[in-house]
Amino acid sequence: MLSEQTIGIIKSTVPVLEVHGVAITKRFYGLMFEAHPELLNIFNHANQKQGRQQTALANTVYAAAVHIDNLAAIIPAVKQIAHKHRSLGVKPEHYPIVGKFLLTAIKDVLGDAATDEILGAWGEAYGVIADAFIGVEAQMYEQSHSQAGGWEDFRPFRVERKVQESSIITSFYLVPEDGRDIAAFQPGQYVSVKLDIPGESHTHIRQYSLSDAPGKPYYRISVKREGERDQRPAGMISTYLHERVSEGDTLHLSAPAGDFVLDTADERPVVLLSGGVGLTPMVSMLNTLADQYPERSVTFIHAAQDGRMHALRQQVEDIAQSNAKVSVQYCYERPTDRDREAQAYHKEGRIDLAWLQSVLADHPAAYYLCGPVPFMQSVKASLIKWGVPNEDIHYEFFGPKADIEAAGA
Ligand code: FAD
Repeated sequence: MLSEQTIGIIKSTVPVLEVHGVAITKRFYGLMFEAHPELLNIFNHANQKQGRQQTALANTVYAAAVHIDNLAAIIPAVKQIAHKHRSLGVKPEHYPIVGKFLLTAIKDVLGDAATDEILGAWGEAYGVIADAFIGVEAQMYEQSHSQAGGWEDFRPFRVERKVQESSIITSFYLVPEDGRDIAAFQPGQYVSVKLDIPGESHTHIRQYSLSDAPGKPYYRISVKREGERDQRPAGMISTYLHERVSEGDTLHLSAPAGDFVLDTADERPVVLLSGGVGLTPMVSMLNTLADQYPERSVTFIHAAQDGRMHALRQQVEDIAQSNAKVSVQYCYERPTDRDREAQAYHKEGRIDLAWLQSVLADHPAAYYLCGPVPFMQSVKASLIKWGVPNEDIHYEFFGPKADIEAAGA
């Protein structure tokens, strides 16, 4: 328990964190990686270079300070981060390292404004917050290890099949090398894939949503190749998976993780809204709904640039054709002539509120969103404008958490 005095001091630093939060977390990561380069095996370097991780951490620290007198308010955020930590292999011994460099970074950035009293209060508060994470993560490690077919850290899987799903997305069917069972998962969850690439000084870990329904003898991930564009380098792991990883090769996987999951107890209609490769968790949800909850009505809405980039289409069509309760809608931003001739899509351009209203009869439904941040910002804003309650809209980020409340419809 934190004292009233400590809580008061932490709260007094909220305005400072709002202004200097990202400077503090930038400094923090710099100091920590200098002293502990082994942690570069866990953290995503591209997120660091783009500042996305620093912003996400600054937002978390800010939220912790705002809610320091009621940390229960940030439990959902803690759980989401803890899932990722568990899949990355973050352990209790990492927390004192983070605490030490976070305090040093606060001192470095704030200078004399970081009095001993403030640093003491943050040291104490960090201890409480770290204990909350460690406790939640310990339960997750235990659950992931003790479940049927489960394991704790990374387990070797063989690429049994590699299937091209579109011009930029390829699926990998993965079976455990030990030939034993694999853990069940909830549709919407992801695995972390750890790669040790020849010539690279660190291992690299990325998350990939499971794109098929649970209950199969394999896990399937479907990976978009992040090509070079707008002066940004090609994505390291997605390119490596596409170009270098073949059938028969080994990938190391965490057990499934993540809290973006289909609520199977909810009996209302479901609307699955995806943009680009964001369709992977949606296809897993769709397959599960069609297999196990055929009485629940599902609208599967997918936005792609054009038909060439539209992945997993045939599988989705097959499900829609054999399930009266499933309907599909495709939105192509820039359809090709061939797409037009084949009438391969239902809407040209981007998803907007008027179109959503025209394809969704009514809105009492559970909405699941996944796609690029601007896609989710715009779709969420449309749904809110239509009157969909916030709590009925669930979403997943294919990167560090970002703010999607900002944009207008
Ligand atoms: P990285 O090397 O990590 O680069 C990412 C981006 O950063 C690239 O666009 C690159 O150009 C840019 N970049 C790199 N370095 C710099 C630099 N120095 N300056 C500026 N820009 C730079 N992806 C899928 O394809 N399918 C999925 O199902 C999927 N599910 C996911 C689920 C979750 C929960 C999460 C968090 C992510 C998911 N992802 C998924 C995304 C995936 O984890 C990877 O982020 C993605 O494959 C890109 O990784 P990469 O190594 O190829 O690119």
